[in-house]
Amino acid sequence: MGSGIAAHVKRIRRAAVLGSGVMGSGIAAHLANVGIPTLLLDIVPRELTKEEEAKGWTLEHKQVRNRLANQALERLLKQKPAPLMSKDNIALIETGNFEDDFHRLAEVDWIIEAVVEKLEVKKEVFARVDEVRTPGTIVSSNTSGISIAAMAEGRSDDFKKHFLGTHFFNPPRYLKLLEIIPTEHTDPDVVAYMKSFGEDVLGKGVVMAKDTPNFIANRIGTYGLLVTVREMMQGGYSVGEVDSVTGPLIGRPKSATFRTLDVVGLDTFVHVANNVYENVEGEEKEAFRVPEFMKTMLENGWLGSKSGQGFFVKQGKDILELNYVTMQYEPRKKLVTPAVEMAKQAKGAAAKLQTLVYADGDRAGTLLWNIIAPTLLYTARLVGEIADDIAAIDQAMKWGFGWEQGPFELWDAIGLEKSVRKMQSEGRDIPSWITDMLADGATSFYKTENGRLFYYAPGGYKTVEENEKVIHIRRLKEARGVIKKNAGASLIDLGDDVALLEFHSPNNAIGADIVQMINEALEEVNRNYKGLVIGNQGKNFCVGANLAMMLMEAQDENFFELELAVRQFQQALLKMKYNPKPVVVAPFAMTLGGGAEVSLAASRIQAAAETYIGLVEVGVGLIPGGGGNKELYIKRLNSLPRGVDVDYVKIAASVFETIAMAKVSTSAAEARELGFLNHRDGITMNGDHLLYEAKQAVLSMYEEGYRPPVRKKVPVAGESGYAAMLLGAQSMFHSGYISEHDLKIAKKLAYVLAGGKVPYGTEVDEQYLLDLEREAFLSLIGEPKTQARMQHMLVKGKPLRN
Ligand code: NAD
Repeated sequence: MGSGIAAHVKRIRRAAVLGSGVMGSGIAAHLANVGIPTLLLDIVPRELTKEEEAKGWTLEHKQVRNRLANQALERLLKQKPAPLMSKDNIALIETGNFEDDFHRLAEVDWIIEAVVEKLEVKKEVFARVDEVRTPGTIVSSNTSGISIAAMAEGRSDDFKKHFLGTHFFNPPRYLKLLEIIPTEHTDPDVVAYMKSFGEDVLGKGVVMAKDTPNFIANRIGTYGLLVTVREMMQGGYSVGEVDSVTGPLIGRPKSATFRTLDVVGLDTFVHVANNVYENVEGEEKEAFRVPEFMKTMLENGWLGSKSGQGFFVKQGKDILELNYVTMQYEPRKKLVTPAVEMAKQAKGAAAKLQTLVYADGDRAGTLLWNIIAPTLLYTARLVGEIADDIAAIDQAMKWGFGWEQGPFELWDAIGLEKSVRKMQSEGRDIPSWITDMLADGATSFYKTENGRLFYYAPGGYKTVEENEKVIHIRRLKEARGVIKKNAGASLIDLGDDVALLEFHSPNNAIGADIVQMINEALEEVNRNYKGLVIGNQGKNFCVGANLAMMLMEAQDENFFELELAVRQFQQALLKMKYNPKPVVVAPFAMTLGGGAEVSLAASRIQAAAETYIGLVEVGVGLIPGGGGNKELYIKRLNSLPRGVDVDYVKIAASVFETIAMAKVSTSAAEARELGFLNHRDGITMNGDHLLYEAKQAVLSMYEEGYRPPVRKKVPVAGESGYAAMLLGAQSMFHSGYISEHDLKIAKKLAYVLAGGKVPYGTEVDEQYLLDLEREAFLSLIGEPKTQARMQHMLVKGKPLRN
């Protein structure tokens, strides 16, 4: 990073976060995730707690003075989803307080303010910061919507040059959006550096926003939500009905409208809405007026998840919805109409949306049109005011709210001309730049040409500027086509003589077609390329083998076919492991079972920071069958320093534990702790840069004169290892923790990992280990209890304990 960044800008090596509340602690955790030592400060408490008094502490005691930040640290270790990618990262956060440690801000390169959302408090904090900071230190505010310029008033010139807004979304580790808000005084080189730091180091999706109330995402998001509430009330829809059609059906998260609000907290939402209400005029002001029933909810303390009830409440096993007329909770309703049914059948986001928004007279269709049309028009009016262009607004909405499409992309999907005609027929006001655009013959906000994406701006289409590390497979294919393709996978030219094997079967599950393409890809790469990347841009890298297919074969007792399929998968991965040209696998999100086995066979893994990898076959009554047992064992063996006395039993037992308990990493850092990744494998913070970095890994291995691993025998733990591994499983069975079938699976797994009935330390062939694994796999898949587990997983999506 930073090749194009001016030399006079300070590089961030240490940071400080002011305020250790929800956001401050989350930001500190994320800085620790990327290896930046961070000082976390909060105010000094004015009173002792009962516990502190009991200990005889006074207000002068260090533990008391640092209490707030210390408690924040404790929360970080307990919070779910985990803010830390590895618990070890906590060591990078040092706590302190605003009185004893403020002078230490002189030591850091970036100071982030995340104190209460009050201009006066923030201004006071910055006045103090200005006194102690070293010239050149970058200072930013995490405000949700207060004017950045107003906060910098009265500060020194050097402060103002290095001051900007950095608006993270909650929770900072998981939400991709980072809005960057410069003022007229901010040094453009500092802005450029913070953008690349945000993208390359923190892994965020950075959007440049203007210094207007609530910036981009919260301005539009709040408007959209209040329109939704108003349309709900006018049309007499229920809270549950609205949620049933404003989630995945229209490309938004499962939590849809009101469940999202329950998670955010009504107090936070009202605070954000009021900020716009107080800062804008006229019709727009009215749009941000919070309805009475929501104010009542606020008074009642019905804030959502944090207070136990909000728009929804859990009662026993049931979830009830709030009736906003009676203010009572009642059973949840869903909106089921012909348009909803048809949209569910329609293929693709555009077809689904069109089915809904043009379904005049349909209760769901009418609601969605009445929410979407004003939101699109409102957003269109804000272009230029809140952001420079439509592309920035779309990115902000996708990254900040998890929408599949931004407003202008959605507008293209429903058809710009058709929707504008409908809006006009209803007497809605269309911004002139859009009528001008249509008059000029431009009928969509976006278009792609030769794999490049363009957006509309008055005066003509412009290129969407993206970090050079962002590769879009879809656009690559549009521009260059594919080298080879079947139903499960495609081989694509990534440029610079590197090829990409993309899985694209349903859920990227591995079947015969993918296995065949692995073989063909290796042949093609060995002839014409420097190396291969295996990666994709689906929801998950790969959720494992095609379970439905395997179950069908097993129920039909086609064991010959199953044996062949497993053998072919094993051989393809073995071929990959010893391929003369490097193969880099780029896992991300869920990488389970067969997906983990593909990764383990790579010359090198380049994993996204958010990788959830595991050999989870035990959950469906099986053990890994594609070489996963062997490879995880070998990888742990190889990770030990040369010359140390190796205890094969210990290693086999730790692999046994990982597989028998179907452990899945909650991050790439944890995958390293579990042994799926070693020190040579890489981690990419920004998921959008994964393919680029995987490609760079291929190129550097090629340049270094890549040689595949040497084929050698594998020393195993043998009989004594088998006995040791079984001991634990047996005692768990006797004390009732695991079932008889679990024990049976454990025995097979232990046998495979021990290398069978051989003396300790015997050196065996890899093929022998693969044969053991395959036999165990096939014997288990013939078991009725295993088949019941597979069936249950396919139908219910979770493991069956039997
Ligand atoms: P919070 O209430 O959890 O934390 C506020 C912190 O400010 C606490 O650590 C508190 O001790 C400290 N504080 C209180 N009074 C202070 C004073 N007089 N001087 C200095 N510090 C004081 O709040 P939060 O949700 O973490 O919000 C912090 C900032 O982040 C706010 O500006 C907020 O608008 C913004 N923000 C919040 C969210 C969110 O979803 N919660 C999202 C984005 C941005």
